Amino acid sequence: MEEIFIANDEQRAILATVARFVEEVVAPRAPLLDADPDPEKSFSWEIVEKADAVGIRTMTLSEKWGGLGADSLTSAMVIEELGKGDLGVSVVMAQTLKIAQIMQKALNEEQQARVLPGFAQDPRGVLAIGITEPDNASNYFLPHPTPFRTGARRAAGGWVVNGMKHFISNGNRASHYLLFAQTEPGRPMAEASTCFLVERGRPGFTIGRVHDKMGERLANNAELIFQDCFIPDENVVGKVGNGFSVLAEFFPQSNAYAGASVLGVAGALHQKAIDWAKVRVQGGKPLIEHDGIRAQLAEMRMLIDASRSYIHRACWLADHPEHGWDRTLGALPKAMAAQAAWKIATWTMEIHGGHGYMKELGVEKLVRDAAAFLHSDGVNRTLFLKAANFMFRD
Ligand SMILES: Cc1cc2nc3c(=O)[nH]c(=O)nc-3n(C[C@H](O)[C@H](O)[C@H](O)COP(=O)(O)OP(=O)(O)OC[C@H]3O[C@@H](n4cnc5c(N)ncnc54)[C@H](O)[C@@H]3O)c2cc1C
Repeated sequence: MEEIFIANDEQRAILATVARFVEEVVAPRAPLLDADPDPEKSFSWEIVEKADAVGIRTMTLSEKWGGLGADSLTSAMVIEELGKGDLGVSVVMAQTLKIAQIMQKALNEEQQARVLPGFAQDPRGVLAIGITEPDNASNYFLPHPTPFRTGARRAAGGWVVNGMKHFISNGNRASHYLLFAQTEPGRPMAEASTCFLVERGRPGFTIGRVHDKMGERLANNAELIFQDCFIPDENVVGKVGNGFSVLAEFFPQSNAYAGASVLGVAGALHQKAIDWAKVRVQGGKPLIEHDGIRAQLAEMRMLIDASRSYIHRACWLADHPEHGWDRTLGALPKAMAAQAAWKIATWTMEIHGGHGYMKELGVEKLVRDAAAFLHSDGVNRTLFLKAANFMFRD
């Protein structure tokens, strides 16, 4: 099934490497890490280092910076493949791959030369983006005229930042962050916020709580806390007051990558449903010979294939916008994949009967994981509204 969209030999070779990495490195470790009650211990540097060793961590860096220069379509294929092994691992890498892409477009030459070589050489280099705050969440997906609470005040040679972000993927693990802060108090965030490059360990910047999560546990989410944190002018990304254009202009495929991560979980669930239906005998024959079950397995396949097509179209058009990129593609593919994954999760559990609810077959972990993207990267309802606002702007 996965073969349908693999266009060329290079993508096949990359995906074979990723599939091997998932089988040898991720799959044996994921259940134990997921079961650790301490969220920080569910994260594995060993997995990140091994992902680095096979070239996954840096694959979206251009060859100039030591990467493969992978395009968005290939990256989405890789992110989905990782998601089949574990959603958290897929998210740790997807965040890093996408932010590396943004950095190569949005950072100026001096900033790139300062940041990218170190990132490329650090086998533990992962990246994070800090936008969401306790009071401002969907407000930035559906730009609402509130300011961010995290504020940057002008000072000699730079900005002094105070405030906090929460829920940030890789928040406690990243070497570099893109941080969105209000640079003009009282005005709407979409018009008066700025994107800053922040290095780990900058004085005044600390990590707060690491959130304990229902699923996607192999990725960490954390609070970022800023207390009189000085950020020099040379760390402003783009123009002051133009933070939102960094998001809109430089990262159209973010939503599709999120969709690819959760689509990997849908694929893993589907495989489990098929495997179980073949061995479980009830009503005198294997479940797979019962028409109701067979039809449901085909419907799952349809949902996965259609979601993948949508994600791939969004990724390809994000790289080739002149062929018809439209902004709904930056909002809807993730919503479709997340809804598909959630449906497939509940159906897979149903096909497993009581065995699906018990932990031993691993369905329960995948159900918890599948729930993550109903909210992550924008709640689906707000994404539908966002797309509608693009469609009916006039
Ligand atoms: C696993 C995970 C990883 C994340 N990673 C990051 C990250 O790396 N960086 C980052 O910045 N953020 C991150 N987030 C935050 C994520 O973007 C937010 O959770 C998301 O924007 C929704 O915010 P909220 O959860 O506070 O919900 P709220 O905004 O409080 O929404 C609650 C409900 O109200 C609805 N609602 C809100 N506004 C409207 C409206 N105007 N009209 C109609 N309905 C509305 C929503 O659809 C939702 O159903 C992550 C979240 C999760 C769960």
